[in-house]
Amino acid sequence: MPIEKLMTRVKQSFFDMLMEKMHRENPSSLYEEVLCILVDSCTLEGAFLVHKGYRYIVTSEEVSWNEEHNIVNIVRKVPDDQTIFSFQESGRETTVFQFPFLSLKEFYLGIVYKENTLPPEFSPLLWRTCTQFLEYVEKEIEKEYERARYAGLYDLTMKLYSSLDPNQVLKDVITAIDTICPKAECSLILSHDSEVSHDLPIRTIKYNEQKSSSGVMKAYVSGRIHIEMMEDGKNSVLYAPLQGKQGVYGVLEMIGENGVICSEQEMNFIEKVAHTTGAALENAKLHEQLEQVIEDVKLINETSHKLNSSLRLDDTIHYMTEQIITFFHAKGVGFLLCITNDKYKILEGSTELFFQTENKPYIDKIYKKINREKESKFINDTDTLFGEKFPYRSLIALPMIHNNKMSGLVLIVHDKPYFFTFNHYRVLQSLVHHSTLAFTNSILREELESLVVTDHLTKLYSRSYLDEQIQQSIERDKLGSLLLLDIDNFKQVNDTYGHQTGDQVIIQVASIIKNNLRDGDIGARWGGEELAVYLPNVPQRIAVSIAQRLVAKVHKETVPHTTVSCGVSSWERGEKSAHQLFIKADKALYQAKNNGKNQVVKSCEK
Ligand code: GH3
Ligand code: MG
Ligand code: MG
Repeated sequence: MPIEKLMTRVKQSFFDMLMEKMHRENPSSLYEEVLCILVDSCTLEGAFLVHKGYRYIVTSEEVSWNEEHNIVNIVRKVPDDQTIFSFQESGRETTVFQFPFLSLKEFYLGIVYKENTLPPEFSPLLWRTCTQFLEYVEKEIEKEYERARYAGLYDLTMKLYSSLDPNQVLKDVITAIDTICPKAECSLILSHDSEVSHDLPIRTIKYNEQKSSSGVMKAYVSGRIHIEMMEDGKNSVLYAPLQGKQGVYGVLEMIGENGVICSEQEMNFIEKVAHTTGAALENAKLHEQLEQVIEDVKLINETSHKLNSSLRLDDTIHYMTEQIITFFHAKGVGFLLCITNDKYKILEGSTELFFQTENKPYIDKIYKKINREKESKFINDTDTLFGEKFPYRSLIALPMIHNNKMSGLVLIVHDKPYFFTFNHYRVLQSLVHHSTLAFTNSILREELESLVVTDHLTKLYSRSYLDEQIQQSIERDKLGSLLLLDIDNFKQVNDTYGHQTGDQVIIQVASIIKNNLRDGDIGARWGGEELAVYLPNVPQRIAVSIAQRLVAKVHKETVPHTTVSCGVSSWERGEKSAHQLFIKADKALYQAKNNGKNQVVKSCEK
């Protein structure tokens, strides 16, 4: 066939193929088709294409021509300065064309045919036709890729901007990159610890492992894409910084196969993905922070509100302790009331560890330090402060300062070092600052109350007097017992008969107590409808029978009919804490309420 006619046939087949367009989804099928056209139209033995590390081979039906390693050798033979290179070998002629276009380093097309079946002028013509066609096709493929990638990026951006959860952002990014760049192996290396599922390729930057992560650090610090060869000398790796407006949040790592480094377009694209990710992470983080600020303000607001409503001091402290434990996951909260520069009182409502003797030396030390410096302290590891093992390694100390005078100190601890964040510290500072006035007022009110020995309504002793007497008895006597009584369903009495009748009922119960005590016993109003009796030198067994007598009398004598529940606790020599005694009685009382009320429960704790 004349050469011109042959070329027309090739061109026509190329054109037909383009019209069909179906191969666009899959470029490799397109290359195979190009090879088929050449083999069929020009009656070749075979044809091959080497492109970006991929090899395509097509042979004519009659010939089994599958010598892949040969192709590599053939391509290696092509001199750098030749676009068309031919050689003959065992009755076959092979012509290799190089296509130096589209910034691709490697693009070879080879045709293999029986010796002397194609005239020498054929090669330049075919080369020209193929150049035009492949150049066009390459551009189209690149455009198509670009379109698909940008569609993917658009989807990803939409998803990321609607997602306010940083973990979801990371998951979406990984899935999107895998679909957009399926050939590369991607991971995210983040600058902060993030709680994401271990199935995802996400790591944290290791700032100290200089060697293995130097590329990561280069991209992270410079904010620019960085490419380097891997140690195996085969694969290359690209690092793109996840850059937001306020900082870099990590690095996107992409390992390319066969040492292939992406084209400029691909790099631009990856940079965009990385920026989108950085912006989305920043967005989600800012949102998280904002939510946190709202929570913090709510907490401060609620607490101030509660404190300004007339709570008793220990209710206030209980409430604040609970809030601090819930919000900051503290292991202990202590409220210290200043007495002198080195003397303080730990207030009821503080957590147990502040009452434990083994912790006293540490608390003393920190109290004196803060009292001297009058400044809050945020200590990540108390080892640095105490030089010895205080079991609570994280500590926040916040003085309550009113009129330039320190009236109290709040201590918040956790057993793990570096547990609290700086944000915790700031919020707690503001919480304590806002509650200092209410706190000081409660203290003043209670100081005044403590000057009063008898309770106005019941004429029983006041609670502060009871406290004092128990403390003295513990120091003086061998043993003693405490009864804690709480009127059952008292709210109902108030609701049914009104507060005045309610008051009368409290007075009746108080009278029953007064009439049944010996000299030296102390009947007191513990608070509200709770009454207490301290019996010096009375062992638990007898205290329980006294309590039972009181409970029975209330049941029999009150009008309107009322009952009380009672918790009994006792101490013996060696045990020297009024606080413990109260706690144990209170627990027993709680048990009595739970068991059905109108009864006595003794504390089993020693
Ligand atoms: P429980 O059996 O569990 O003790 O139930 P309760 O109804 O007694 O429960 P609670 O302790 O919650 O309610 C006590 C109520 O007593 C709430 C408060 O309004 C009322 N109260 C406290 N002090 C006084 C007081 O001095 N006079 C009157 N009339 N009511 C008081
Ligand atoms: Mg009560
Ligand atoms: Mg009650």
